[in-house]
Amino acid sequence: MGGNVLLENCSWVVTQNRNRDVLRDKHIIIEDGKVKAITGHIERSKRFDRVIDCKGKVVLPALINGHTHAAMTLLRGYNDDTELHDWLNSVWRVEAKLTGRDVEAGTLLACLEMLKTGTCCFVDMYFFMEDAAKAVEKAGMKALLGYGMLDFGNEEKRKEELRECKKLLELLKKKGNKRLRGVVAPHAIYTCSAELLQESMEIAKSYDVLYTIHLSETRKEVHECFRTHRKYPVEYLDDLGVLNDRFVGFHAAWLTRNEISLLARKGGGVVHCPVSNMKLATGGAFPFREYIKAGVLTALGTDGACSNNSLNMLEEMKFAALLQKWFRWNAREMSAQQALDMATVNASKLFRLNNGSVEPEKDADLLVLNAGSCFMLPHHNMVSNIVYASSYFTVEHVLIDGDVVIEQGKHTALGEEGVMSIFLKRVESLMERAETGDDE
Ligand SMILES: [Zn+2]
Repeated sequence: MGGNVLLENCSWVVTQNRNRDVLRDKHIIIEDGKVKAITGHIERSKRFDRVIDCKGKVVLPALINGHTHAAMTLLRGYNDDTELHDWLNSVWRVEAKLTGRDVEAGTLLACLEMLKTGTCCFVDMYFFMEDAAKAVEKAGMKALLGYGMLDFGNEEKRKEELRECKKLLELLKKKGNKRLRGVVAPHAIYTCSAELLQESMEIAKSYDVLYTIHLSETRKEVHECFRTHRKYPVEYLDDLGVLNDRFVGFHAAWLTRNEISLLARKGGGVVHCPVSNMKLATGGAFPFREYIKAGVLTALGTDGACSNNSLNMLEEMKFAALLQKWFRWNAREMSAQQALDMATVNASKLFRLNNGSVEPEKDADLLVLNAGSCFMLPHHNMVSNIVYASSYFTVEHVLIDGDVVIEQGKHTALGEEGVMSIFLKRVESLMERAETGDDE
């Protein structure tokens, strides 16, 4: 970890603390990976391993991407402009040929993209997760990694999937890297049997991890669930006994009021993916107002780069706020502050992390933006600038546990050219395998 670091003369600190204070002209002292103090004065005798001048900059908590399939960068731009279920079928054909090396290269590129756009941590669901873990470690990021399980009702497959899930959780435990945690990740109710959904929750409990699943992304899956079980998805999941405070639903766009209050009572949370939903034309909009009213924790995610097509949380916050306003014909829906909360404090709480705000004793996972950039002028409202006006071009530094991972927009440890060239070779080889049907 980065020792003692001083962020000197921060012109703005968007703390995301309880009062959502935006402080002016402060120094941030970081010790042993944690924020030690935010102060107007530093003792002369104090020595730091690293001093970063933040004059003209805004410091805020680095962002948390609540839903990704990171390695799907490999398929960015592949079969765009199709609706979800057609899209899934075409993607599955290529994914059948994936190898661990593909996933490592794809995840590493994803990490690079996320870091360069201000994200410190992501919640991933995919395959070959031990290879994804290698990439996350190389990038110096934080991640919650889940092996995506699907059994389509096949008992043999179910056993295999559960074994794979436990294998990943064991591996992550053994690694002992505090930046990497496991989650249990059954894919969705339409790809997983009731037994798989239930046994997954038992694993989540025994490893004390979260339970993440795609939930009510489209009306089609909601109708199918109702036809089969005479219940809506959240009611069905409740019958299976898997709704509790470990439960995190991705997308969660088509819930009834009754399902939302059920989720609130059981303590589950949801992750909104506005860009992916709009691009795949899943219709309607995430019922944000209803979630807030019911007290359900809501975070924000990009989904994979194949359905977004970027992993840029700065962009995602803006889209989230705009979608609500557009959908409700009401400019007051989802304020910039609420969008920022979803990508920081709320996500941190939902995923049981110790970051998401700039406060003493929190992990020093920080994003430094250049407030002097033309994109960020003038400075009437810094939160509004961050959500509605900032972009990749404004990202200066990203710190994770006080380590400077991105400096002046560049990764401090990874050779970016090398990462990109390996990635492109893997894409070429994967497409060839998908075309010919050959294995590597
Ligand atoms: Zn997804």
